[in-house]
Amino acid sequence: MSKTKTAIIIGGGIGGLVTALKLHRAGVKVRVFESVENIRALGVGINLLPHAVRILTELGLAEKLEKIGLPTAELSYFNKYGQQIWQEPRGVNAGYHYPQYSIHRGRLQMLLLEAVKEQLGEEAVLTSHHLTSFDSFSDYTVAHFENKKTGEHVGSYDANMMIAADGIHSVVRKHLYPNEGDPIFSGRILWRGLAEASSFLTGKTMIMAGFQDQKFVAYPVDPEISGDRALINWIAELAIDEEMPSRADWNRKIDKEKFAPAFADWDFGWLNVPQLTRDTEAVYEFPMVDRDPLPAWSFGSVTLLGDAAHPMYPIGSNGASQAILDADALGQAMKEQPSIELALKAYEKMRLDTTANIVRSNRKNGPEHVMQIVEERAPEGFDALNNVISQEELEDITGGYKKIAGFDKQTLNTK
Ligand SMILES: Cc1cc2nc3c(=O)[nH]c(=O)nc-3n(C[C@H](O)[C@H](O)[C@H](O)COP(=O)(O)OP(=O)(O)OC[C@H]3O[C@@H](n4cnc5c(N)ncnc54)[C@H](O)[C@@H]3O)c2cc1C
Repeated sequence: MSKTKTAIIIGGGIGGLVTALKLHRAGVKVRVFESVENIRALGVGINLLPHAVRILTELGLAEKLEKIGLPTAELSYFNKYGQQIWQEPRGVNAGYHYPQYSIHRGRLQMLLLEAVKEQLGEEAVLTSHHLTSFDSFSDYTVAHFENKKTGEHVGSYDANMMIAADGIHSVVRKHLYPNEGDPIFSGRILWRGLAEASSFLTGKTMIMAGFQDQKFVAYPVDPEISGDRALINWIAELAIDEEMPSRADWNRKIDKEKFAPAFADWDFGWLNVPQLTRDTEAVYEFPMVDRDPLPAWSFGSVTLLGDAAHPMYPIGSNGASQAILDADALGQAMKEQPSIELALKAYEKMRLDTTANIVRSNRKNGPEHVMQIVEERAPEGFDALNNVISQEELEDITGGYKKIAGFDKQTLNTK
């Protein structure tokens, strides 16, 4: 009988928790180590694309997801005057076998945490364990932890493998690539918020308006608030002329005056941007950053996953979905490969180039490049869209991105 394999997962975010569920299914004994003392429902809205929903469905989470996720029915792009550039159905509405969900990041994380505790046991998640360093060998890794608040050493643990899902400031990535430095700033800042407000368009529409250097994104996220009202997640995005103002931290709250004046006349009739931002209590600031793709993620018994492996601009609704796809690939590799070292390399082979392509595509605005083209060709707005951009060009750009991100309908529905 072969000995049970063991894994240490660093980070209890979406990537780490789904990895725990997938490795558990592959017969691995898993422990998740999370830096914070209490995992709380932080963040605002995110999107789960159909390929990620498929993986969560296979993990038995479909019913729970349905309760907290709002199935996005379509995606529309507009120019800065609210003139429509593009519209496409999404999720089940577009013929996918799985929905696309607009969902509160924190609620999704809590759902996953509960599933990990239910399926793996309460003791599978250790909080107040911040990884500081590790010693890795081809067949095992010893990880050292401290309590980040007190600085006290809280233990060292070993396992046959260590999966680093410790986010954009990954300690493990820094250890593997000590000269890499900080995330790379795009010159743009994102301000994010959530507010209950009047619903807009179909009540299930995700919209993006503007262009690369000034954009507004909005979509409803709570299926329990419907009809005339909606819990709307929004993101205002602006290019700035300064250095990156602060370290990338998803929880930094700021004063709305930093961005609100730039959007003061963005009342489209069907969506009143200044009103929506005024109605929002807490606004969070995040510099739009990413990192260059790496040549390798897996070294012996250690690998990187999710934002630790491939942080990307939040364009095309990919951050959480790609972390979930990583977890799925790792689970598959673990079942198929004869050794951990080979499994971690096989996982890297399945995912590294794919995610590197998304990082690069997002630097060129991903599917939202159509908005940039329209701004460049018709900065004062347009009378007829097809004088500005053809349907073919629109389809090439938006359809091409779906292939890069792995969710073109044909590929996904045949899985
Ligand atoms: C608090 C928070 C809020 C966010 N809000 C949004 C949002 O509103 N919109 C959006 O698009 N994306 C948001 N994100 C990012 C989004 O969740 C990720 O892009 C995506 O889900 C991929 O997740 P991940 O698990 O790879 O990384 P993350 O979600 O960043 O999770 C990493 C986890 O690792 C833990 N960790 C970090 N270092 C260590 C260490 N040394 N030892 C142990 N644990 C460690 C962190 O506390 C965190 O729980 C947020 C992330 C965080 C952490």
